[in-house]
Amino acid sequence: AASGGGLVAYADSAAENASEQSQEAPKKKKVVVLGTGWAGTSFLKDLDCSKYEVKVISPRNYFAFTPLLPSVTCGTVEARSIVEPIRKMLEKKRKDVTFYEAECFKIDASKKAVHCRSAVGTNFDGNGDFMVDYDYLVVALGATVNTFGTPGVMEHCYFLKEVEDAQKIRRNVIDCFEKASLPNISEEEKRRILHFVIIGGGPTGVEFAAELHDFLVEDLVKIYPAIEDFVKITIIQSGEHILNMFDQRIATFAETKFQRDGIEVNTGYRVIKVSDDLITMKSKSLGEVSVPYGMAVWSAGIGTRPVVMDFMHQIGQTNRRVLATNEWLRVHECDGIYAIGDCASITQRKIMEDISTIFKMADKDNSGTLTLKEINDVLEDICIRYPQVELYMKSMHMLDTRDLIKDAIGDSHKEAMVVDIEEFKKALCKVDSQVKSVPATAQVAAQQGHYLAECFNKMDQCKEEPEGPLRMSGSGRHNFRPFRYKHLGQFVPLGGEQAAAELPGDWVSMGHSTQWLWYSVYASKQVSWRTRMLVVSDWTRRFIFGRDSSR
Ligand code: FAD
Ligand code: MG
Ligand code: MG
Ligand code: MG
Ligand code: MG
Repeated sequence: AASGGGLVAYADSAAENASEQSQEAPKKKKVVVLGTGWAGTSFLKDLDCSKYEVKVISPRNYFAFTPLLPSVTCGTVEARSIVEPIRKMLEKKRKDVTFYEAECFKIDASKKAVHCRSAVGTNFDGNGDFMVDYDYLVVALGATVNTFGTPGVMEHCYFLKEVEDAQKIRRNVIDCFEKASLPNISEEEKRRILHFVIIGGGPTGVEFAAELHDFLVEDLVKIYPAIEDFVKITIIQSGEHILNMFDQRIATFAETKFQRDGIEVNTGYRVIKVSDDLITMKSKSLGEVSVPYGMAVWSAGIGTRPVVMDFMHQIGQTNRRVLATNEWLRVHECDGIYAIGDCASITQRKIMEDISTIFKMADKDNSGTLTLKEINDVLEDICIRYPQVELYMKSMHMLDTRDLIKDAIGDSHKEAMVVDIEEFKKALCKVDSQVKSVPATAQVAAQQGHYLAECFNKMDQCKEEPEGPLRMSGSGRHNFRPFRYKHLGQFVPLGGEQAAAELPGDWVSMGHSTQWLWYSVYASKQVSWRTRMLVVSDWTRRFIFGRDSSR
């Protein structure tokens, strides 16, 4: 009996312990992160993982520093130098984070689960598929290439999105040179094989063209002197200028430099077909032309990954290219699903939708009119919730509320400075035209990851949903500010140790010194000391010995 009692007591205390434990530590919420690119890793880096049960799913068990991918295409930097194993990045958090090397092929929002497939093949009981459930889902799947359905592009063009792509390009560039060096090849054929065509004049296409040109003049001409004269690089761009998302000065600088370098820039041409040896393009004024080519790299446009497309159909976001989120990066109408980086875009709420609410909220004395002071008191909150107000005032060179009001009601009211609802509307009616969408860049993805991690870290202190129209600050109610992108500038290396940069505050910088700035910024931005050392030593090796031209 004694031993039996002991057993019972033991069981009892175990049960007691268990209930005590569950009281003390409520079950951690499950966070699932899809993707280990810029957005995903930046989120994971800043997330307090001890607060959650975190699972990370990606078909690639590494992070790739994409801005240096163009350098990998010509061997300026080695592929291994720009990737960091994801398990290494999460080493310190390994207690709380699980990584699965798998591809997510379906998001099931109704069951709060994602369906995944092993990236390395099948497991023993069948197909390697498994399901992971979540309380919060962070979609950071990035984007894929977009051929706009142009015939032949998928079959014949190279792309520059992933590390493997860059390695393939590198091998093929060398192959073209070897092929053209074989005996019994006509001059015409040599010219074709050594015609490198880049479709798309955005930063990636331009950077690749510049890398290729450097590789050519700095390394290849020395080892393939016989075929030097047959080489040609062409950029095809549908718009009027290359780099058209940058300041006009940068576009002009790049075009002039490329012209001097002998890189042909065909603007105003749209590629309509690619066959195994011909690219057909069309211009409004000159009609259709076909040019023979040896290698084509397609870097025009970004597309939607199938799993994201499927999810958008599920939740009724059809006819879109990316997931629409609110300003707190939560996917519209979805419980606990957030989307960051290239697979998402923010819909900024329009101030005119909320104008009556804002008016009532500002009108503290219920007088039906707003005084200058009443408006001033809420302006800061308005600007946080509707950043377009600040952009508008800046673009109109308005210094304060007075200027804004003056503009709407005219100078006759100068003394009074009181507005009714109609005048208030009039003052703000043009503001929403200033809503800007954020670009699909690493910088945006990283900032969104960081922002979302901060929100998750503070989630338990913020019971209240931070949504809806204007919310007044102070008294801790305004816990989450909406995400706000801060543009820190962007570089475009243009080859020949020259670069262009667009810096905050409408600054533009171009030339050799900018390239040195580029070197230092990109060295400092590396995710680990290991990759930093590798990248810097790759650069040094290239300076001293040139690039490695073996296949
Ligand atoms: P990604 O970084 O693409 O990450 C997506 C992640 O999702 C990857 O880990 C991928 O493996 C994973 N994934 C894919 N499919 C699945 C699936 N089915 N299930 C699970 N996981 C999946 N931006 C700049 O700001 N400056 C630059 O200089 C610059 N240069 C660039 C140069 C090149 C050649 C390229 C291609 C891009 C460049 N960018 C640059 C853009 C930048 O890389 C992207 O904006 C950024 O990578 C977006 O981050 P992301 O996390 O949204 O997507
Ligand atoms: Mg990502
Ligand atoms: Mg990436
Ligand atoms: Mg985006
Ligand atoms: Mg009033």
